[in-house]
Amino acid sequence: MTADVDLDGLTYLLPELSTREAFAELEAARRAAEQTPPKFTIIPEPEFPHMWPHPKGGIARFPCALGCGWAHEHDSFADDPEPISLPLSAGAEEIGRIFGERAERRAARVRASVEDAIRSHFADEHPGQEPPERRIA
Ligand SMILES: [Zn+2]
Repeated sequence: MTADVDLDGLTYLLPELSTREAFAELEAARRAAEQTPPKFTIIPEPEFPHMWPHPKGGIARFPCALGCGWAHEHDSFADDPEPISLPLSAGAEEIGRIFGERAERRAARVRASVEDAIRSHFADEHPGQEPPERRIA
């Protein structure tokens, strides 16, 4: 049995929607998306000045949103101090959960580190000015 056969079998089990029902589902999804509060960040879009396999290929640069020339550099290849620890009895679902939670913790640490650097830069070089926010969702 191939993955395509599995997908065909699953698709067969789904109820067939009329155009009206499909439109109602799309409308409901659109309304739900509108009601989700927007998310903002002070972290600018990163730049990746060096591509792998360059020795600095893991460097992500977060330039000052005011264009003063400063940038916070984060080496995404270097940081990962948290050891990976898996129980020997862990199944695929638990392994996935452990890696997912670990990735969330790492992402939160990186975000906090970049935000701290940006706030510190603004306090030193652009006193009295808040870092501008951009919408991310
Ligand atoms: Zn600046």
